[in-house]
Amino acid sequence: MDKNWSEKNKEMQSLLSRETTFGSAVDLLLELREDIFERIGQIVSNYPREAFYQMPFPGADGYHSKTLAYSIWHIFRIEDIVAHEMIAGDRQILFADGFCDTVHSPIITTGNELSGNEIAEFSRQLDIAQLYQYAREVKESTDRMLKRLEYTDLKRGFGEETAEKLRKTGCVSADEKANWLIAYWCGKDIRGLIRMPLSRHWIMHTEAMFRIKNKLCKMARKGVDPIAYCGFSCNHCFLGEWCGSCRTPYNACSFARVSPGGKCPNAVCCAEKGIDGCYACDSLETCEKGFYAPSNDGAAAAKAQAMYIQKHGKKAFLKAHDRLHEKYDFAKTQEILGRDCMEGLRILEEN
Ligand code: SF4
Ligand code: SF4
Repeated sequence: MDKNWSEKNKEMQSLLSRETTFGSAVDLLLELREDIFERIGQIVSNYPREAFYQMPFPGADGYHSKTLAYSIWHIFRIEDIVAHEMIAGDRQILFADGFCDTVHSPIITTGNELSGNEIAEFSRQLDIAQLYQYAREVKESTDRMLKRLEYTDLKRGFGEETAEKLRKTGCVSADEKANWLIAYWCGKDIRGLIRMPLSRHWIMHTEAMFRIKNKLCKMARKGVDPIAYCGFSCNHCFLGEWCGSCRTPYNACSFARVSPGGKCPNAVCCAEKGIDGCYACDSLETCEKGFYAPSNDGAAAAKAQAMYIQKHGKKAFLKAHDRLHEKYDFAKTQEILGRDCMEGLRILEEN
């Protein structure tokens, strides 16, 4: 489990057990949820549609055997049911805000009953932007509910009446892979529901999403030139687990994400010129386009690397990078190559 999330979660649970620290527990819970939700948002905005229905670990024992789309649906469907049918006693967001139609889900259940290819098929049908919007509204509505909770509410439990109500909604499948959920939830008080599913459940499924997207990025990069258009080495990039290379649809380069259309201007320019990368361009040394804009802190390092490739080729460049990484402990190349491209080139040539 992510160490930071796991520690926050542990601290939150302990603060929750005393009336004097209850307010701090809620604040910490909201902070944890915000943090996790931000990471889910990064996944949603970084990857192509196909990423959301791929199953890179089919049949694996664990949540990573699902898809990205299923994981989002499942986390927030469960939260919607628990927060509204059980804790708040009002209408679920799925029905109140019309997401039933816009998400295009063929089911209204939690999805626990689905397995194998059914999960991939289900995921393929979802509108991911709407799914994310649904997730956001569920999160925000639960956050508001958590802020209204009082310490004395934590001991409120649920009985057969709630279980019957949940069965009637049809939101939990009668399939044995799913129907245990009702007894599981109703066996808890609100404190127990905060633990599962309002916090720990998020962590478990979001971590599984990380494993899925890491694997998808790795698969996307397989057989693809590991040199980015600007001259960076994808093999040595600190964003390697998030980015599937600017040469694939799994491009999550932070510079590309903030550029028009999510496309790196250097990649666009290379495509227009019909060249393999900026290292094949006559204007490289003086270029200030895209990643090479003087205001970008990685500009000189990127250019130094492209200049090295221009002089010595890609093979030598990758070897020089291996040596640099053996010698120094660094994440971003600019930490070593500095802010001057000629100096950066010299450092690469000396190593
Ligand atoms: S951010 Fe750039 S260098 Fe890093 S993996 Fe993505 S395309 Fe490659
Ligand atoms: S003009 Fe600049 S961005 Fe375009 S290919 Fe040449 S070096 Fe790259």
